[in-house]
Amino acid sequence: MTSRKGNISVNTTDILPIIKKWLYSEHDIFVRELVSNACDAITKRQTLARSQGAETPEGKVLVEVNKEKKTITITDNGIGMSEEEVEKYIAQLAFSGAEEFVNKMKDEGGETKTDIIGKFGLGFYSAFMVADQVVVDSLSMNSGAKATRWTSKGETEYEFSESDKTEIGTTITLHVNTESEEFLDNWKTRQTLTNYCDFMPYPIELVDVNQVEKTLEENAKAEKEEDKKTLTPDIINDTTPLWKKDPSTLTDEDYKNFYKKMYPMDQEPLFWLHLNVDHPFTLQGILYFPKLNPSKPVNESNIKLYSKQVFVSDNVKNVIPEFLSLLKGAIDSTDIPLNVSRSALQGDPNIKKISNYIVKKVAESLKKLFKQDRDRYEKAWEDIGLFVKYGVVSDTKFDELMRDKVIFQNSDEKYVTLSEYSDSLPKDNDKLKNKIIYFENEVSDQSLRTQLKDNGVQVITTDNYIDPHFMQHTEVQKQGDTEVKFTLIDNAIEDALEVENATEEDLKIQDLFKATLVGEVKENEPASLEIEVKNFKNSTTAAYYKIDESMKRFAQMTKSMGQSSFEMPTKKTLVINPTHNLVKNAFKLAETKDKKELATKICHHIQDLAAISGEGLKDNEKKLFVQRSQELVSELSNLAL
Ligand code: ADP
Repeated sequence: MTSRKGNISVNTTDILPIIKKWLYSEHDIFVRELVSNACDAITKRQTLARSQGAETPEGKVLVEVNKEKKTITITDNGIGMSEEEVEKYIAQLAFSGAEEFVNKMKDEGGETKTDIIGKFGLGFYSAFMVADQVVVDSLSMNSGAKATRWTSKGETEYEFSESDKTEIGTTITLHVNTESEEFLDNWKTRQTLTNYCDFMPYPIELVDVNQVEKTLEENAKAEKEEDKKTLTPDIINDTTPLWKKDPSTLTDEDYKNFYKKMYPMDQEPLFWLHLNVDHPFTLQGILYFPKLNPSKPVNESNIKLYSKQVFVSDNVKNVIPEFLSLLKGAIDSTDIPLNVSRSALQGDPNIKKISNYIVKKVAESLKKLFKQDRDRYEKAWEDIGLFVKYGVVSDTKFDELMRDKVIFQNSDEKYVTLSEYSDSLPKDNDKLKNKIIYFENEVSDQSLRTQLKDNGVQVITTDNYIDPHFMQHTEVQKQGDTEVKFTLIDNAIEDALEVENATEEDLKIQDLFKATLVGEVKENEPASLEIEVKNFKNSTTAAYYKIDESMKRFAQMTKSMGQSSFEMPTKKTLVINPTHNLVKNAFKLAETKDKKELATKICHHIQDLAAISGEGLKDNEKKLFVQRSQELVSELSNLAL
């Protein structure tokens, strides 16, 4: 056969420089494109042979790196192509595909290139990102077919010539360009293959040609048989990823091992769910609930997206709701359109269905765990609680399924749902009806919690990150038909405990504290500090701070939504217990001649103790506290001596 030249009929003659420029950082994608083409070709051959009742050899892809010759070749034993087919599919279609890509890039000006490349398979043409010249040798499976060779430099001209290929299939040879020589290093190609092809459906063998030649030479020289090195094939991928297997045949160990393979640096996952659906869309996958690494923020998506076992993207942001992005694992679906823009993806009806399906499945698996293994659910709560609450707040469907599975620790450090909590409240106190008393971790006054617990009233512990949102959401959306009201412990204590009317003496005590503490407002203390006496029955706390709850919650919300970087002042009331011995003594001393100064110190001390019990002292207050405490204890010890 004599060689024959041909021309590509595309309008854009300068595709190559444009693509090279755009894809500079992404050019390793050629590996995915060429190896997945090879796998497709094998599937086609096998399907065809099966339909004809013929035998086919097992599918295999060979990736050979030859640093000396500066080539990478990818060989498959797939369907192969005749000269006409190479002309049609490679020369014309692949190139017009690339042209379409270029036009798409122009249209999508606003989107980043990485976004597009993940979705839009550049296909065969991507070979030219790393190669100056590409040679395709192919022998079609059709009987009587003749092998053909196609050579192209990525320009509009190409050439057909005779090929010495004797086995059915295709070999693509890339003459690697100077800028891409890193791919001639075995490790680089290995890393790229592992990244993109780790679950492709046929074994992919990587061969370092120069290394193999060297070993063979050494073996030939070796005198003794035992000095010879054996050459074991380096198979890159796992051809049957776990998500393709029947869940009923899999053990916990299988799931854990698979996780370890995907995320070698991670701790064991908490639990997982195996997705498998055929209708109305196809999707398989495994989603894992990871153990969170507190030093690593979860703001990126960890789920890998595959299409027929070909890695497509790390980014499933537009496919599943954001609150699920802390999950890890893999989703394999051919129903996720890859070649459309983000806005089109969001409006895609399949995506909506897939997203709803995943949300439902995740909620169902959590519900099941809650019901069947509450202990394990509670143990995992530290890791999953944040995401469950976030899901409840942000997704109506998830809210519906999961709100009553949200748990909080009560005063006994036992986990309860909101309805279990409500059931635990004393039934004879109407003021507590539909109230949920919360204790803000590291902020609220510990002594109040103990006091309530001693009186048979539990409180739940909340954080100040997601819980303000969760509380507000639950209040607005109601719990079933009943309204719920979250109340901060220092506000609720008046409803929970019996309070006696203030006596005349109590009011005098109030005056004393007002005169002593408000008269000389501390630096940084909001001017609006108020003093109140509350005559609780059986109270063991001398004083505590009561925070204006609505102001506090408003400040918290604006802060967590990033709208305010400064600390908004919230009104505080110092509530004094006139029956407490320390308070009584302070009052008596204040009434005694020459002891007024000591009384003042004790009043301050009571206030400091209230602060320490709750939010704590600020740096400048600490200094004053230590100074005053030293004076006070010295004075009292002098009296004792
Ligand atoms: P796509 O794979 O998206 O169709 P490509 O540009 O990658 O686009 O390939 C174009 C066509 O060339 C393929 O559809 C296929 O028919 C053919 N082709 C590419 N690589 C091979 C191969 N290794 N064996 C057989 N046919 C191939």
